[in-house]
Amino acid sequence: MPAQIIDGKAYANGLGGRIAQAIPALEQHSGRSPGLAVVLVGSDPASEVYVRSKGKMARELGMASFEHVLPEDSSQHDLLALIAKLNADDAVDGILVQLPLPSHLDSLAVIEAIDPAKDVDGLHPSSAGRLVSGLEGMVSCTPLGCLMLLRSALGNLSGLDAVVVGRSILVGKPMAQLLLAENCTVTIAHSRTRDLAAKVRQADIVVAAVGQAEMIKGDWIKPGATVIDVGTSRVIRDGKTRLVGDVEFGSASSVAGAITPVPGGVGPMTIMSLMHNTLLAAYRRRNLAVPQLW
Ligand code: NDP
Repeated sequence: MPAQIIDGKAYANGLGGRIAQAIPALEQHSGRSPGLAVVLVGSDPASEVYVRSKGKMARELGMASFEHVLPEDSSQHDLLALIAKLNADDAVDGILVQLPLPSHLDSLAVIEAIDPAKDVDGLHPSSAGRLVSGLEGMVSCTPLGCLMLLRSALGNLSGLDAVVVGRSILVGKPMAQLLLAENCTVTIAHSRTRDLAAKVRQADIVVAAVGQAEMIKGDWIKPGATVIDVGTSRVIRDGKTRLVGDVEFGSASSVAGAITPVPGGVGPMTIMSLMHNTLLAAYRRRNLAVPQLW
């Protein structure tokens, strides 16, 4: 039987609707909508597109969007001064610094300068530490979106065997922590893992976050498993550029129980999780009870 296709776009649209509905209560309480500040240094075309789409989505949902573009040759001091200003600005609930930064800037120091209460990207070491400690905090957007999709497909994840392929701070590590908190038994695989195919074959849940086009084949997947494909790679097929995931979709979708497509799976969830985190930050900063959104 072909796998159920987990429609990230549809889920993200639904979540967006619930986020938009939760904004008027905030406005009534404090007289203003949640505010998201996005900081871009330089003019990398892909980063410019991401920043624009984040601002547009925030405005569509009824949030205030503040976009700050600094020149490529900005100093660490300039960038830290902007972060300090945004930390102190009450109209800003969430701060996102678009990565990667130009190589002369120290990304970690910049992320550490963000007020953890406004760390909507969930990359501050305090956010990572709170996740490991099981404390309330901000969770990195892509793994949060993956967890939402897994819950929507499976309901209760308790006791399931999960393999996360990739151990980045952005995706793999927080994903593994989230699955552990759901009572999964979690294996984290990476470039030095021996016999990756055998590890993946044992998993009820596979989250692939590698960045190698179609590396995970259908015969690596346990029949009926749920597959979340985070990877995005551009390949040329029949003379056209296409976006593909880390999983070979054709072969995997005839074995898996449920699978995310690329595009249309995890991608739309990442941006909506950012909106979710901005709303969450706005509620928490006003000491209001956060509505149930997923
Ligand atoms: P990183 O490059 O930071 O991490 C990749 C991870 O994959 C590393 O842990 C690396 O292992 C591991 N890896 C590399 N090669 C292999 C291999 N042959 N076998 C097993 N593991 C391997 O990438 P990110 O985590 O930032 O992103 C992963 C992918 O997800 C990328 O394609 C990225 O574009 C995509 N992405 C998509 C998003 C979306 O919204 N759809 C959002 C974020 C990311 P090691 O640590 O040993 O080097």
